[in-house]
Amino acid sequence: MIVMKFGGSSVANAERIKHVASIIKAYADQRPAVVLSAMGDTTDYLLEAAETALHGTVDISNVEKLHRDTAKELGVEIEPINSLLEELKFLLTGISMLHELTKRTRDYLVSFGERMSVRMMSAYLNANGTAAQFYDAWDVGFVSDSNFMSAELLDEVWKTIPEHLGDFASGKDNRIPIITGFIAKDKNGYITTLGRGGSDLTATMIGSAMQAKEVQTWKDVDGILTADPRAVKNVHSVPEVTYDEAAELAYYGAQVLHPRSMNPCRVHKTPVRVKNSYNIESPGSLIVAEHSGEKPPVTAITSKKGATLIDVVSTRMLGQPGFMAHVFNQFLKWEISIDMIATSEVSVSLTINTDKSLDGLKEDLQRYASIDIKQNKSIVTIICDVARSSEILEAAFDALLREKINVQMISQGASKVNISMIVDDSEASRVVQILHDEFFGA
Ligand code: ASP
Ligand code: MG
Repeated sequence: MIVMKFGGSSVANAERIKHVASIIKAYADQRPAVVLSAMGDTTDYLLEAAETALHGTVDISNVEKLHRDTAKELGVEIEPINSLLEELKFLLTGISMLHELTKRTRDYLVSFGERMSVRMMSAYLNANGTAAQFYDAWDVGFVSDSNFMSAELLDEVWKTIPEHLGDFASGKDNRIPIITGFIAKDKNGYITTLGRGGSDLTATMIGSAMQAKEVQTWKDVDGILTADPRAVKNVHSVPEVTYDEAAELAYYGAQVLHPRSMNPCRVHKTPVRVKNSYNIESPGSLIVAEHSGEKPPVTAITSKKGATLIDVVSTRMLGQPGFMAHVFNQFLKWEISIDMIATSEVSVSLTINTDKSLDGLKEDLQRYASIDIKQNKSIVTIICDVARSSEILEAAFDALLREKINVQMISQGASKVNISMIVDDSEASRVVQILHDEFFGA
């Protein structure tokens, strides 16, 4: 058995759904369990509709039109989708009357996207000679905690998923399961979601629980790339990365896989292959527990905009136990999470990525240190073999010096797979290009 996951843009319209159906058919003999996201930007549309409903207006015209038009173009029965659209309107009416939107209701609301998309695909496959059965994730064993909007799956899914998909895996049931990504139910029967982009986790969870041969996530590019092709010239695909490297890539802004989705794979070392739906023949990139051959010095370069750099300087810090704890406690108090840190004896520099106001935090920190806050920074990250960091740093800084780029902070973890640096947002694309040229050739 294998698992095939298709994201929103792969199923964005009738034409793309037909194409995905043809890919599923091509892999039918490998017994694929298929995981789908909501069509195109449906999740965002639903969230917008919720906001509009809060202000008293019920409007799902774009979601409705997309799904009705697509069903029509595919020539499939709209009935199961019709009743979901009706239910969705009821829900939005409720929100508009109560002027209230809890996290629980928000999860219920966005679940409609995935639920409609699996019904669409399943109907199309069945109408065209491939036996398929759609499932809402809870019908194949997905139970989570009640942490709405970013729920964690419960341990029992390791048992419940095989209980539900065992017949398909063994060949007793030949209908290809088409399963909603991203959603689950808690013990009370309330719908939860696994966080934005969560359908990757659905796919890897199924793959690992079923001990599948491989989990495939299908994208619109040739697997994992050495840098973002929208910003950098001459990118190419990376044949192999480890789970750790893939998670770092995702944290630092690459469009790879949801970072949390790597966790289930580690249990049985299930390989994940990132494939290109526009280039089926290409092997894509393989994500594995350990490199099969020699580790390359540099795997990829990413950048993530919108960081704020905070410099905390205090001479009182000299030799003072507990000073760091005090600084970090202020971040805890204001619920602001820290991304990167660099310290010296009398100063600590850190980066955050938040839309929250920093006034309160600043006031608190200023009581015992001088604070400098600089916005519009980017974190540029070299995903690399840190055992070779001196060599990599030398090459990187030589190249940046030649181009007169001033790096404002740098951090390298002891056991990590990356070197990160802070530059101005306005310079980030150029920095990535310079580093890419240096490590992968211009
Ligand atoms: N549809 C959800 C989202 O857009 C989940 C996913 O695509 O993985 O975040
Ligand atoms: Mg999506």
